Amino acid sequence: MATNTYDAIIVGSGITGGWAAKELTEKGLNTLVLEAGRSIVPERDYVEHVPVWELKFRGWDNRAERERTQHIQRECYYACDEYSNKFFVSDKDNPYTSAPGKHFSWIRGRQVGGKSITWGRQSYRWSDLDFEANLKDGVAVDWPIRYADIAPWYDYVEEFAGISGQAEGLPQLPDGKFLPPMEMTCVEQDFRDALGKHFDDRIMTIGRSAVLTRVHKGRAACHYCGVCHRGCITQSYFSSLNSTLPAAQKTFSTRKLAASVVFASSMPKPKPLTNLRRACFSFVLQHWSPRASSSIPRLPNFPTVSPIAAANSATTSWITTWARAQAAKCLVTKTKCLSAIVLTASTSLASAT
Ligand SMILES: Cc1cc2nc3c(=O)[nH]c(=O)nc-3n(C[C@H](O)[C@H](O)[C@H](O)COP(=O)(O)OP(=O)(O)OC[C@H]3O[C@@H](n4cnc5c(N)ncnc54)[C@H](O)[C@@H]3O)c2cc1C
Ligand code: SF4
Repeated sequence: MATNTYDAIIVGSGITGGWAAKELTEKGLNTLVLEAGRSIVPERDYVEHVPVWELKFRGWDNRAERERTQHIQRECYYACDEYSNKFFVSDKDNPYTSAPGKHFSWIRGRQVGGKSITWGRQSYRWSDLDFEANLKDGVAVDWPIRYADIAPWYDYVEEFAGISGQAEGLPQLPDGKFLPPMEMTCVEQDFRDALGKHFDDRIMTIGRSAVLTRVHKGRAACHYCGVCHRGCITQSYFSSLNSTLPAAQKTFSTRKLAASVVFASSMPKPKPLTNLRRACFSFVLQHWSPRASSSIPRLPNFPTVSPIAAANSATTSWITTWARAQAAKCLVTKTKCLSAIVLTASTSLASAT
């Protein structure tokens, strides 16, 4: 029987395992990633563009079933829902106990990518306020590092992952290597301005998040469909599947024998987006998104629900259907989808102007 030897074996392909795979393969190590969970095929498993009417319970979920099988996972109520409960373990099959009176919610994702598929993507640097807290409060042991030690590593990670955010120059919340910040809604802008007017020491800033506001390392900019915990077919948020594992596999294909990444669950090689799909997702939708668009006039004082936002949602579904039809080479459905997209776009533009 043939045997393989590896320089490094990584257990788990979540955010940690993904980074380890990328770094070790790039340094030339022959690397094996072992993943206990199932493979994820984005085209099949991501559900961020599935319309609610395609779900059996129309998004309300089978709550009795959820309570029976995922009573702990569903504490993540917004993420472990009818759409994306499949990205969380079954509590029935993976029981554990906690000490009486010390409830511990163990949220787990068992699939290639782990919790990087469902995470909230909020990404903040710690400051010396955090690194010195143990020492100042006399709790546990003093951290062996300070902000200055870790700052270059924050730079390194942020540059690869792509973190959008606004630099504010605050010592308690150090700035990072940011992509352009997301635009605030009208209400948020008003609130930020009012806050600035009434307080010298309070500031409202946009969330710093691992979501792309422009094309970054071959991944498309976000089109703000807004349900990232269901997956992201355009690879616009950072996850192992979208970023680090493909980078590790790329190293493998460029170095051939020098390094390898093997997945126990035989993860298929991530498919690059075709130019056409990329164009559909990132160009068309971005131009209709109320947040990202500067060319489309916004409805005054109507920041959250607008015809454009509604069209955005409808169009995303049509584009997904179009992508499926494209894969199935179904010309009739493709034509129907394209007409629906054009119709939705012209209706929404007409009502917005
Ligand atoms: C809903 C939600 C929102 C979050 N939001 C944020 C946020 O906004 N910002 C933030 O910084 N953090 C956030 N987090 C936390 C963040 O997602 C986790 O800290 C991070 O993903 C953990 O990564 P990990 O690689 O350590 O573990 P995981 O992602 O859990 O990966 C572990 C992997 O190991 C595999 N595995 C387990 N046992 C074995 C075994 N025996 N053999 C082989 N493989 C095994 C699992 O299947 C899994 O793929 C959030 C988490 C959740 C659930
Ligand atoms: S396109 Fe943007 S909002 Fe939609 S799932 Fe991807 S990162 Fe999230």
